[in-house]
Amino acid sequence: MDHFLYRAGVLHAEDVPVPTIAAAVGSPFYVYSTATLQRHFRLFDDALAWGEHLVCFAMKSNSNQAVLRVLAEAGAGMDVVSGGEYARAKAAGVPGEKIVFSGVGKTREEMRAALEGGIRQFNVESEPEMVALNEVAMSLGVRAPIAIRVNPDVDAKTHAKIATGKSENKFGIPIARAKEVYAEAAAMPGLDVVGIDVHIGSQLTELEPFRLAYEKVAELTGVLRAEGHEIRRLDLGGGLGIPYERSNAAPPLPVEYGALVKETLGHLDCEIEIEPGRLISGNAGILVSGVIYVKNGEGRDFLILDAAMNDLIRPAMYEAYHDIVPVQEPAPGVEQHPYDIVGPVCETGDTFAKQRLMPPLAAGDLVAFRSAGAYGAVMSSEYNSRPLIPEVLVNGDQFAVIRSRPTYEEMISRDTIPSWL
Ligand SMILES: *Cc1c(COP(=O)(O)O)cnc(C)c1O
Repeated sequence: MDHFLYRAGVLHAEDVPVPTIAAAVGSPFYVYSTATLQRHFRLFDDALAWGEHLVCFAMKSNSNQAVLRVLAEAGAGMDVVSGGEYARAKAAGVPGEKIVFSGVGKTREEMRAALEGGIRQFNVESEPEMVALNEVAMSLGVRAPIAIRVNPDVDAKTHAKIATGKSENKFGIPIARAKEVYAEAAAMPGLDVVGIDVHIGSQLTELEPFRLAYEKVAELTGVLRAEGHEIRRLDLGGGLGIPYERSNAAPPLPVEYGALVKETLGHLDCEIEIEPGRLISGNAGILVSGVIYVKNGEGRDFLILDAAMNDLIRPAMYEAYHDIVPVQEPAPGVEQHPYDIVGPVCETGDTFAKQRLMPPLAAGDLVAFRSAGAYGAVMSSEYNSRPLIPEVLVNGDQFAVIRSRPTYEEMISRDTIPSWL
């Protein structure tokens, strides 16, 4: 459920007509709904209410300061994967004790910044990383709290580019080696082993892969406790998918996911952490774009939009499907027409949809890409020297620009021409 609905024939973001925002900021732009962000966070928080837990928003899905502030005020922690994300979380007011640091390639500088600024735990992904973190912590005279990310060798049954839990993926240590690696960690004076971490992939549309992974985590918890490790926290990652294509079967709900966590791990008396990104921010955002031209090609018609692959790369990168709807609600029963929906970038890959049935559209009309709040703005670039597009946050009947569109001058002035040229 989201808060982007037609009212009186016009798409609204909560109580604000989308054309009103378009008139204020110009297309294309992203719009996020405060109520949807809050609602999705609460669904997870409620789903784990049976035990001690923390929902850490995977901010790589959407790291705008205002979005982080909405979620932090709702009680969310943050899952960060870089020094930049750590700095963003702190800048949005998230205390260090609610920030989890994930990622396969944390540098010593990033480790130091997080240890100095406060951190809930590092999710360590390899032995060399463990050695580095131990050294950095010792040099600061502190102990770094860690969970070790185990790779359970489970097929997440999702797109190959976002599956992370198979043994051939770069993530975590093989679960078969966990005993050995935990023993090494326990012997390092700069590390404080607090738990186990697992994250098997993104956009999962079934619970079964989670079940397989969590059963392995439960078993490992017993093994490690028997070895004398104090396993008091289980970080279960993110990954629950969202319904991009409304005609498909809906993925499991957070409440079903929470019940599965309870069933597989609830008896272990551990604090549960989860790191959802997409399910919190995905359907909390839309990308609004204007039609520049309708081009009648050889055997097919093209809708040429003012948004492009640099603004939303998911279709080009993951063959992702996004619902694209007209901002003016089509009359009931209006005849639909197949269009190839493309952007202006000079690449064939700049195609959002092929032969998509749409009501008749004309130059100047607005369309909205649904489910664009996650892995949208954060993955955008200025390819073709197209300035990053604005982000807008709606709350009830108010809206605010939460990232403005740079002018050409601002975009160009980030480059410098050396004095010797
Ligand atoms: C990407 C990622 C997440 C979030 O995944 P979603 O599919 O957006 O929920 C959580 N944890 C880690 C370690 C990740 O890399």
